[in-house]
Amino acid sequence: MPSEGKFCSTADGAVTIVFPKGHAVVKTGGVYLKRYTGKSVVKGIAVGRIYWYKKQNYKVVKTEVSEVNAERERFERAVETAKKQLAVLYEDALRDLGEDHAMIFEIHRMLLEDKDYLNAVKNVIEEGFSGEYAVDVAEEQFAKMFASMDDEYMKARAADIKDISKRLINILAGIGEDGIHTDKPVIVVAEDLTPSETVKMDKDKILAFVTVKGSSNSHTAILARSMNLPSLVNTQMELTEEMNGKMAVVDGFNGEFMIEPEAEILEEMRTRQNQWIADLKGLELLKGKENVTSDGRRINLYANIGNVNDVDAALEADAGGIGLLRSEFLYLGRKDYPSEEEQFESYKTVLEKMNGKKVIIRTLDIGADKKVDYFKLEPEENPAMGYRAIRICLDRPEILITQLRAIYRASSYGTVAIMFPMIVSVNEIIRLKEIVGQVKEKLRTEGFQMGEVEIGIMIETPAAAVISDVLAKEVDFFSIGTNDLTQYTLAVDRQNQKLESSWDTHHPAVLRLIKMTVDNGHREGIWVGICGELAADTELTHTFLDMGVDELSVAAANVLKVRKAIRDI
Ligand code: PEP
Ligand code: MG
Repeated sequence: MPSEGKFCSTADGAVTIVFPKGHAVVKTGGVYLKRYTGKSVVKGIAVGRIYWYKKQNYKVVKTEVSEVNAERERFERAVETAKKQLAVLYEDALRDLGEDHAMIFEIHRMLLEDKDYLNAVKNVIEEGFSGEYAVDVAEEQFAKMFASMDDEYMKARAADIKDISKRLINILAGIGEDGIHTDKPVIVVAEDLTPSETVKMDKDKILAFVTVKGSSNSHTAILARSMNLPSLVNTQMELTEEMNGKMAVVDGFNGEFMIEPEAEILEEMRTRQNQWIADLKGLELLKGKENVTSDGRRINLYANIGNVNDVDAALEADAGGIGLLRSEFLYLGRKDYPSEEEQFESYKTVLEKMNGKKVIIRTLDIGADKKVDYFKLEPEENPAMGYRAIRICLDRPEILITQLRAIYRASSYGTVAIMFPMIVSVNEIIRLKEIVGQVKEKLRTEGFQMGEVEIGIMIETPAAAVISDVLAKEVDFFSIGTNDLTQYTLAVDRQNQKLESSWDTHHPAVLRLIKMTVDNGHREGIWVGICGELAADTELTHTFLDMGVDELSVAAANVLKVRKAIRDI
């Protein structure tokens, strides 16, 4: 690699200029291509336009545009999107708060039809400026005008102008609060993405994720895997306005992000993309086949899901069940706790769709990187080892009780199991089982039908693995969470991108704890599965079978890949 700022010729005559922050501009045949490297999270290839997902602290800058017509149309589309958002807000507020509160959204929608305001924005666009800047200018002009009026009602409209202008600017700038706003699927680039932001995004609108920060073991990466979208994290690049809308390629096989590749490279990448898709199609021949080795050893192969919609992907992948429903995703990206009724409907839908196949619901694992404002969690020095999961549930049992009621009420619609995360002691299980007993008793007196529900725990702390002989006496099954188990065993923060190279899931300490857990579980006659990301690591499939693991639960996109690995043994 040449040093920074240096030119370097390659054998094929291309010229590479290496810039700080690890990106290179390669000039081939007069066309510039920006190429960045990142850490691949999902292997695959995506080709499409870039969408820069920005956070809330976006500042409008005076930006000139050359395509005035296109900019005006972009603004008009933003107005339509804003109206749709306001219609949804109106309906929600009408339902939850009544007509008086809902009216404000109707007023905002009407303001978006105000010809004077719209023309003021369009005039600035006609002068050759961006939609964001034009809205900003019109906002100032109109807000001042309303504020200077004598009539109190009209004065108050200044705030509404500010509000609708902010909404429009957010939409135009692709600022994240309400997901992404695009008609066509895009490659989402961002400084970083939280799980809350990622779950709010419409999967059908995304081709790939590329983030500057982030680690491949974070929940955002896990979400990208569950969506099977080619994705890179820790990509050494500087995000700039001019990237937005440019054609790009994400190569998840080689960890490369290329902006405006020349026609030849684009062509080559499309060929590789087609090959990748063909390979995935080839795996489909394994649908309906058993998870059995050539010498007759069988294992259950389930899917991990984050929300109700993911069930379709699990069924499509021919998963034998759901080995991990990360129920906390129901709590993310919203303003208040999901009610018992809402959760009941979600679990019931999953169970009905799975049609008798087992669904293991993990009780909420909020905390650490999965934050929600309405939980009012205080900032912590060490959130991964802090107030999270069952620690919150045992402290604030009303939250857990609502969830357990919803699960038990749904239990008569299929085969459900409950699994508790972040266990470190027998006492926790005893207390959790007491709460379960009370919930069941209450539901019985209320006349609800309930099915049989297995109770299990995640083994994802070294403490739980080490005392798994004792814990096994208390539960029906173990599911090993290798993501957290690796984090705590190796003392390597799974969120820290600087520690990627220390993230060694094949470390003998991790493998020994897995083996110890399987043996202890079997000694007490309970089944043991793995639901962490390691379950999909086909280099270890043989090892897991030799250890006697009973179930592997992987992202839906990996089910057939793992089935192939099992059948190849
Ligand atoms: C794990 O820790 O391995 C696990 C499955 O849970 P999560 O990744 O959601 O923390
Ligand atoms: Mg975990």
